[in-house]
Amino acid sequence: MNTNVKAYGAHAGDRPLEPMNIIRRVPGAHDVRIDIAYCGVCHSDIHQVRAEWAGTRFPCVPGHEIVGRVSAVGAQVSAFKAGDLVGVGCIVDSCKHCDDCAAGLENYCDHMVGTYNGPTPDAPGHTLGGYSQQIVAHERYVLRVRHPEAQLAAVAPLLCAGITTYSPLRYWNAGPGKKVGVVGIGGLGHMGIKLAHAMGAHVVAFTTSESKREDARTLGADEAVVSRNPAEMAAHAKSFDLILNTVAAPHNLDAFLALLKRDGTMTLVGAPSSPHPSPEVFSLIMKRRSLAGSMIGGIPETQEMLDFCAGHGIVADIELIRADAINDAYERMLKGDVKYRFVIDCASLAA
Ligand code: NAP
Ligand code: ZN
Repeated sequence: MNTNVKAYGAHAGDRPLEPMNIIRRVPGAHDVRIDIAYCGVCHSDIHQVRAEWAGTRFPCVPGHEIVGRVSAVGAQVSAFKAGDLVGVGCIVDSCKHCDDCAAGLENYCDHMVGTYNGPTPDAPGHTLGGYSQQIVAHERYVLRVRHPEAQLAAVAPLLCAGITTYSPLRYWNAGPGKKVGVVGIGGLGHMGIKLAHAMGAHVVAFTTSESKREDARTLGADEAVVSRNPAEMAAHAKSFDLILNTVAAPHNLDAFLALLKRDGTMTLVGAPSSPHPSPEVFSLIMKRRSLAGSMIGGIPETQEMLDFCAGHGIVADIELIRADAINDAYERMLKGDVKYRFVIDCASLAA
């Protein structure tokens, strides 16, 4: 029998999130049912539930930083059993046979199904995310959590913020001898700082918030720059191998491209709802610089990231909230007032 579970979501882009009941399917042969303990709150949740990106389907239940315990598995599932600590990130399905899927890069599959707002035969015809009590997902997209259970809430943000920063840091070889910038100290940015530091890079954090300067050092940055200050920016001209830009709003990219050394790359992971001003051609052709992008990460790399974090004792810095605090949490995120990720205690949905 399908299960009726409690969730938090919105009925329209201009409506606040509110309690709702949703249906989860009976686990199929390859499915894993997870009792969700915690779900992180990503800025993408705001973009989508407020219909800032095209194509939001309503009702929309956001949430793709999911951790919890397996409560049932289908007959063909052998890798997971009831009681296991697991996670689900941004992906719950893909075609499973294209070149991208074969390479473990399901995130780039043309038929990737997002954990929420993706097409599915399940009611109501689109996927519903982790601001809920349970989720059912194909075993391929379920990750094993090896952190101690006491850290579970702070593990949740690794499922999106962690992999979205880990993947480009690995792809562009962040490590010893490399100077890496992280722009924007929010949910993604604070993970980018921790991960680049753990990989052995020299890390410089860029923030618009003077109040985060000291935090940046605590998070693992070797230096912190307030990007509104031109003299501080100029001191780093032509010096970076890689800049990871996590900012959730349009801004002047040239100011950061000028900080790349020859053959350096700035990769965009922030996904604002309106475009950045187009960069100056000379910002790129001088010094043969690259401007790139990167989207989350594939399933094998997400497991690699979780294991890397477990091995290095890395979790997110979080503020745990009840589900009914979500609308206020969104407003605070828009003001940059979160250190550094809200995580919903999904047990609060039962109350
Ligand atoms: P967040 O926690 O809200 O952090 C964004 C940070 O950007 C802020 O903390 C702030 O840092 C900086 N910022 C500067 N000016 C801003 C402005 N006008 N408005 C908002 N932020 C501003 O967001 P997040 O969850 O890290 O997500 C960041 C972006 O990445 C979002 O657009 C999200 O949709 C996108 N995203 C992309 C992927 C992907 O696969 N590529 C995955 C997840 C999320 P300072 O105070 O330090 O300046
Ligand atoms: Zn996300």
